[in-house]
Amino acid sequence: SLEVSGGEIIFDQVKFGYDPERPILKGLSFRVPPGQRVAIVGSTGAGKSTIGRLLFRFYDVTGGAIRIDGQDLRDVTQESLHARIGVVPQDTVLFNDTIGYNIAYGRNDATQAEVEAAARAAHIHDFIAGLPLGYDTQVGERGLKLSGGEKQRVGIARTLLKDPPILILDEATSALDTATESDIQGELNAMGRGRSVIVIAHRLSTVADADRIVVLEDGRLVEEGTHEAL
Ligand code: ATP
Ligand code: MG
Repeated sequence: SLEVSGGEIIFDQVKFGYDPERPILKGLSFRVPPGQRVAIVGSTGAGKSTIGRLLFRFYDVTGGAIRIDGQDLRDVTQESLHARIGVVPQDTVLFNDTIGYNIAYGRNDATQAEVEAAARAAHIHDFIAGLPLGYDTQVGERGLKLSGGEKQRVGIARTLLKDPPILILDEATSALDTATESDIQGELNAMGRGRSVIVIAHRLSTVADADRIVVLEDGRLVEEGTHEAL
């Protein structure tokens, strides 16, 4: 079981490909120091979201190692990783259940007040409160009855409620308009303060506030530094 103390994340010469014939990560190394915010930028298909999937052990690395606070991920359970790492993905997958269930997923002990507070912070409470069945509204197969931006805000509310020690934001606000995005960015920044955060983005401009930026290209790290330096 994963024990998180500082939340240091290390990718050490990580090799991985979904298909053994086609490597995606070809010896990727970087470090997220405890409590710091590291951005990963790179073109589409570079392997950025793959990094998040590997942290959850949806797949295991084929070379090198990933370590969190010194523990090799191959030695910890997927369940404990899910409990301690929160991901706001590009595409939030919703369960065919109610909106309330989807926000509280992973925090079954949460009170209705806590669920609502998270929904407010993610700017989705007013939308939900305006539905005839409110938090009991069924979202449909994979959340089909919600727009991309509504689903994304449900995913953000879920992560705010979970309040994990390690946070991964994978284009977390890509489906939102600029005004909503900047409001929610503030909430996500507040949640990220003092914890280890990986922010994934296409563009350097969206990650200006990161402590360090990793540029991923052709499966390797090509540049690393602060926003000013790059
Ligand atoms: P984007 O910026 O478009 O989100 P990304 O950097 O996040 O791109 P990944 O999702 O990590 O890219 O995908 C890296 C590569 O792996 C891509 O070429 C993609 O087609 C491939 N890939 C992703 N998921 C799978 C999968 N489940 N099976 C096979 N190939 C996959
Ligand atoms: Mg991606």
